[in-house]
Amino acid sequence: MSHPFDLTGKTAIVTGANTGLGQGMAVALAEAGANLTLVGRSAPSDTVELVEKLGRKAHVVMADLGSLDPIEKIVGETKEVFGGIDILVNNAGIIKRNDSIDFTPEDWDSVMNINVRTLFFLSQAVARSMIAAEKGGKIINIASMLSYQGGIRVPSYTTSKSGVMGLTRILANEWAQHGINVNAIAPGYFATNNTAALQADEKRNTEILGRIPSGRWGKPSDLGGAAVFLASAASDYVQGITLPVDGGWLAR
Ligand code: NAP
Repeated sequence: MSHPFDLTGKTAIVTGANTGLGQGMAVALAEAGANLTLVGRSAPSDTVELVEKLGRKAHVVMADLGSLDPIEKIVGETKEVFGGIDILVNNAGIIKRNDSIDFTPEDWDSVMNINVRTLFFLSQAVARSMIAAEKGGKIINIASMLSYQGGIRVPSYTTSKSGVMGLTRILANEWAQHGINVNAIAPGYFATNNTAALQADEKRNTEILGRIPSGRWGKPSDLGGAAVFLASAASDYVQGITLPVDGGWLAR
């Protein structure tokens, strides 16, 4: 019997895989055996190297996920190169910071487009392919602590990540019948480009660290276990959850 966390022979699409959490999860999925389609607007050269070093294949699709235009190419090329899609990790996302009183429609739309709109329509396209292939699949959305909390000065981000938690539930409800598991991971505070401004702000950095029972910022590799779990047969009866990986932030 194969190990329940084994991803040998599986194909995963990871968006925003050139850096940060996307890179951490792509490497973890490759370590567990998966081949990868790496999607993003910056060349994921380091990630390709790390994946290939593990003996897995990496296919790159350069795409700006601010629009729906690249979806057909992402799905089409993955099927052409690897023969199908087993796992989708909707990781790419952005954040815009400003007081709600001054927040602009541009900063609203840019965040909602990538964090919610593209996430939904890429999931739809991948789910259509999974349903046609009749082999089920795994969709993992990247949520946030701001799926649970309000935050401050990030109104479009909080709305988008609260939306991701709701979308994860409805898609699980609709697609579980096809053997597709839809779940989310809510990272706590991780040291990446996304949180560079917070890390650099001494006051906020101290406040944040003071609330994390683990006593440190997360590293991208800290997400690997949750990603492999939700991508593998080990989570076949897990549906619609948003799993916090936060060093205990929400427990405080
Ligand atoms: P990051 O280092 O800024 O990475 C974001 C990724 O998304 C990058 O690969 C980025 O590509 C890509 N991306 C952004 N806009 C894109 C676009 N229009 N088209 C294609 N790709 C695009 O941040 P991260 O921390 O790893 O964030 C990854 C995910 O985790 C995001 O959804 C974020 O909201 C979420 N998250 C992060 C934290 C945290 O503490 N870091 C906490 C909770 C949730 P470029 O490098 O080209 O910009």
